[in-house]
Amino acid sequence: MIPQHASALLISDLHLTPSMPLTAQRFFDFCEKDGPKAEAVFILGDLFEYWVGDDASSHSPFQQEVRRAIANLSTKCKTYYMHGNRDFLIGHDFLQKTGMTLLEDPSTIEIASQKYVLSHGDALCTADIGYQVFRGWVRKPWIQKLFLHLPLAWRRSIAQHLRNNSHVQYQNYKRSAVAKIKTNVTLEACAEALKDQNGDRLIHGHTHLPAHHQENLRGQEWQRWVLSDWDLDHPDAVLPRASALSIDHNGVRYLDLIKA
Ligand code: MN
Repeated sequence: MIPQHASALLISDLHLTPSMPLTAQRFFDFCEKDGPKAEAVFILGDLFEYWVGDDASSHSPFQQEVRRAIANLSTKCKTYYMHGNRDFLIGHDFLQKTGMTLLEDPSTIEIASQKYVLSHGDALCTADIGYQVFRGWVRKPWIQKLFLHLPLAWRRSIAQHLRNNSHVQYQNYKRSAVAKIKTNVTLEACAEALKDQNGDRLIHGHTHLPAHHQENLRGQEWQRWVLSDWDLDHPDAVLPRASALSIDHNGVRYLDLIKA
């Protein structure tokens, strides 16, 4: 069953953590004010900076606050969630308590009678072979089961270690042209995902490069929208940003949640 709605708001890459209180507050306001204006809200992954298991939530007042905000939003509109590369361990318990419906990556939805293919985006970054091998392993159900059986302190320290590594990599790569290719989606992967889903409109996050693209490969044409990440807590390093993609009968547009 393809989800069908008259209007929708799509967000991703909020990377929520207690150390970014302004970003978190904008999300709470979003759940209260912006979200309910649409018929459906889609969260396309990396809602949290990291997630080491639903059971860890009971030790985190912050995660419980986020859970309550989404649960409240779910009473006002339909909510959907797709796993990101940082919170792919969000499980049945959290989804049930928030009232969100889990979507596979990729998934097709229909908004205002127009089909869109949704993805978090990390699976589309196929130029980064090392990452795709890593992703293949951590997405294996038996590996996840093993990890979730580890003591919470171990899980947290493994997650911290992985984040440090990816941060170092990011710092090293940031300036090089190779990095720009490796950390972005490839035309080939987008073309294949759209062919599989029989679509020509793709929406994803992950790359933190919000833009609308008109693309083609070997005669196949499509449009691609990239969602913005959110960061209201580091105004010195980067421009504060938080936006959603809004879709209704008027079409697709970016909604700046800082000006809104
Ligand atoms: Mn991501």
